Amino acid sequence: MINVTIWNEFRHEKTDEAVQKMYPKGIHGQLATVIGEECSVKTATLDEPEHGLTEKVLEETDVLLWWGHIAHDEVDDAIVQRVHDRVLQGMGLVVLHSGHLSKIFRKLMGTSCDLKWREDGKSARLWNVNPSHPIVAGVGEFIDLEHEEMYGEHFDIPAPDELIFVSGYPGSEVFRSGCVFRRGNGKIFYFQPGHETYNSYYNEKVQRVIKNAVHFCAPTENIYPTYGHYEGEDNK
Ligand code: ZN
Repeated sequence: MINVTIWNEFRHEKTDEAVQKMYPKGIHGQLATVIGEECSVKTATLDEPEHGLTEKVLEETDVLLWWGHIAHDEVDDAIVQRVHDRVLQGMGLVVLHSGHLSKIFRKLMGTSCDLKWREDGKSARLWNVNPSHPIVAGVGEFIDLEHEEMYGEHFDIPAPDELIFVSGYPGSEVFRSGCVFRRGNGKIFYFQPGHETYNSYYNEKVQRVIKNAVHFCAPTENIYPTYGHYEGEDNK
């Protein structure tokens, strides 16, 4: 059983009626319902002590999901470093929607991770550009979302290790909306859908992708490698 921790900033849901209506249990609550069908799930939010991401919680986490938007700067640098260390050790990380500007994603990427955006309630089509990849199993050729925020290129990320989705929008913009990165022993998946006032996390294909990504990003059973001075097999 994969142990998943779903981290949500959980601020919009407390103050914005439209968001409360869309996600009455919080975005983390909706994601927990979905992922809980296949994995053991915990949630953590910004306003908890240590943002809910204690050493123990992270130690017991195979894959961490991250949704943040208006309070990226309030995330403590020491906690960001803690999550960063865990990713390098092999913990999976799934970064959702506006998490592209989170401290942890920018630290792992080493770039600004900035992009163009427009909140106009129009549609998006996410093209599956990597049909044999496990993240798109059961998803088909594309995902149509009736309403999603436009995120457009240029997306200032390093070239992804694997490109999974490219989105197109009615305004002709395009966006690399599903990207896999490897950092140290960890796997990272960035996935664009999930604006707080739209219903993307109720879409079955979006749910399928997130569940697939959790399985893909989970650590392998390989032992964490030994680093540092090495005697060699013959000198034991
Ligand atoms: Zn948004």
